[in-house]
Amino acid sequence: MIDFRKIWDRIAYALVEAVFPTKCLVCGEFFSPPQREDMLWEDLQDITYQRLMAPFLCPTCLPGFSPVESPICSKCGIMFRSRDGEDRVCSNCSMTPGRFRMARALGIYNDQTFKKAIHSYKYDEKIQLARPFEKLLFSVFIRHWNKNDIDLVMPVPLHIKRFRERGFNQAYHLIRHWPRIAEKLDIDLSVMRIERNVIFKTKKTKPQATLKGKDRKKNLAGAFSVKNAHKIRGKRILLVDDVFTTGTTADECVKELLKNGAEYVDIITLARRM
Ligand SMILES: [Zn+2]
Ligand SMILES: [Zn+2]
Repeated sequence: MIDFRKIWDRIAYALVEAVFPTKCLVCGEFFSPPQREDMLWEDLQDITYQRLMAPFLCPTCLPGFSPVESPICSKCGIMFRSRDGEDRVCSNCSMTPGRFRMARALGIYNDQTFKKAIHSYKYDEKIQLARPFEKLLFSVFIRHWNKNDIDLVMPVPLHIKRFRERGFNQAYHLIRHWPRIAEKLDIDLSVMRIERNVIFKTKKTKPQATLKGKDRKKNLAGAFSVKNAHKIRGKRILLVDDVFTTGTTADECVKELLKNGAEYVDIITLARRM
């Protein structure tokens, strides 16, 4: 039997492509993204970077991604240069352990187009990238955590002024639809809640990227504060951010959360600098 719907879908797709060609969100070149049927995802195995990012990045930019893979530091998630052996605590974490319990990320930040894709999401308002990113981050969560070990998920907050400039909190948009994604995958997330009214950034700071070592810490000292502390007493928290570079920002949040009674705080990010 002729499947007229499929044929019509193809024609409609070709027409849309002809009138509104797709631009790569990293390099700006026009390209033909895969058809809708290739974008469908049904289970966790379908949630891969190459598959989910294919509608947004051209075939030249798409391969520019390296996943974080074991052996990694079991605390901070950094990859070991030597690809032999098991996950273990790195020397940095054994000398000066961060306040967080563990940190995990999807991909390597030093990396090619993945870094550019995150920049375009965060600074160029390519908020449509939240769609693949939130699913990819959710898959990182399911891979590394027992979902019943987390009570609250919260984005690293932006200062209200920065929030107004940008129009959105890029970290929040990485978790906003987790309940819906979990439902589609038949994963019970009922223990966990997204919480946005606890930690706030009350001091406007310089961009961390422009600073080094001690200045990074000084810049962020006292930048975050907790309201509604009763909401986090005894709670196990997952803190979400787009990038983990030195970990100073996240750790400053962790400090406040622990001070106000959180049981432990873990960190999850899209990317991690290696
Ligand atoms: Zn491109
Ligand atoms: Zn480490």
